Amino acid sequence: MPALLLEEMTWPEIEYVINNGCKTVVIPSGSIEQHGPHLAQVADTAIAEASAVDLARRLGNTLVAPVIRPGLSDHHLALPGTLSLRPEVFTGIIEDYVACYIKHGFENFILISSHGGNFNILEEITSSLNNKYPNNKFITGLPLQELLELLSGMEEEENMPEGTCGGHACEYETSVMLHLFPKHVRMEKARKGYVGRPTREILDRMHEGGIIAVSNIGVLGNPEQASAERGKRYFEKEQEALYKTVKKKLNNM
Ligand SMILES: [Zn+2]
Repeated sequence: MPALLLEEMTWPEIEYVINNGCKTVVIPSGSIEQHGPHLAQVADTAIAEASAVDLARRLGNTLVAPVIRPGLSDHHLALPGTLSLRPEVFTGIIEDYVACYIKHGFENFILISSHGGNFNILEEITSSLNNKYPNNKFITGLPLQELLELLSGMEEEENMPEGTCGGHACEYETSVMLHLFPKHVRMEKARKGYVGRPTREILDRMHEGGIIAVSNIGVLGNPEQASAERGKRYFEKEQEALYKTVKKKLNNM
């Protein structure tokens, strides 16, 4: 099998693998949104696809749907280039992906996102799909809270000051991009944004005024020390956690 990406396969190749037990599809969603002065808008989308391919490889008998490129990014719209889908449009795209793939014989769907803004809606979509198609399985990946805990755990392990991996265009994300897609990183432009705990007050401020109410350059964390080697470790750790969660959820259904 070539790259595990459905869009890069021919229909006879897809038909063959379905007939030979490949019944699971990962549907990755990302975002096209500002990522500070140093990361290209594609960051989340690029990471989502890489994460989905890695997950599919670990699971076996799993393919990857075309990544849904823009996501729910209203809180980044103040900075140019950001796209944000209406929730009903985003939901509709996933529902249509699923309806098509079920017709072809796929049975299980894993809805993952590399963009925090998509997590809540993915939970809602997953539960409504489980109701609509009781003979199929729909699951999400790591819960957002777990992911955030993983980030602060990795930050500690790497001896980084608290808040360095703030979650947006931060040390973590910039390092992962340096590891996977260095051409989308302008390290000489990397500057620190809001560095600290994501307290209730900070989250409320961001909720009301968008990201620029917290950081005028659109960065949560400090990407200045980002490195490809650390990015490799971050990615590996996160993928391992994702794989374990997905495996457990699939077995429990
Ligand atoms: Zn991002």
